[in-house]
Amino acid sequence: MYGSIRFEEKFSKPENRIRLILDFESGRMVVYNAPIVEVDFLENIEDRLSKELGIDPLRNWDEEKLFNMLIENRDRVIGEVLLDQSVFAGVGNILRNEILFRSGIRPDRRISDIPEKKLKLLIRITKRLCEEFLDSKLKGRGIKRLLMVYNRKYCGRCEGKISYYRDEFTGRKTFFCPNCQS
Ligand SMILES: [Zn+2]
Repeated sequence: MYGSIRFEEKFSKPENRIRLILDFESGRMVVYNAPIVEVDFLENIEDRLSKELGIDPLRNWDEEKLFNMLIENRDRVIGEVLLDQSVFAGVGNILRNEILFRSGIRPDRRISDIPEKKLKLLIRITKRLCEEFLDSKLKGRGIKRLLMVYNRKYCGRCEGKISYYRDEFTGRKTFFCPNCQS
């Protein structure tokens, strides 16, 4: 969910952020900031993505399949599995933190220790939040107002102090509220 695609003649962002320019007769397409840019026929890309990637909230959503995948990964830690693109496709680090917060689950909890009901809640929240993030971005409002825990000192719900550390499994910034998540 990084980067942006714009149809424009004059660059609206600094040139060092440009990753791809395609000139068509009808106009120019510019891709900014994307970490990976692939150009191929749609069916080739879809075919490959369906083999490499897991369940994408915006593409091939399937709650039951995702739940079964979580159970298959029951010996792993939820904060790590949320970033595993072969399980949750399209979930980045900010979303990971916010999904765990809204589900009331600590990032370092082993999946086998999380009640089934809470796992199902996490699955539903994943889809809802991905859509909210996208919607907010598309409307040009950014995502900052949606952040309850990420990059915050105090919890967006209970106002308690947020704990922060670098995840030992993923090396990513991890925030959680000791009051709201268990
Ligand atoms: Zn809290």
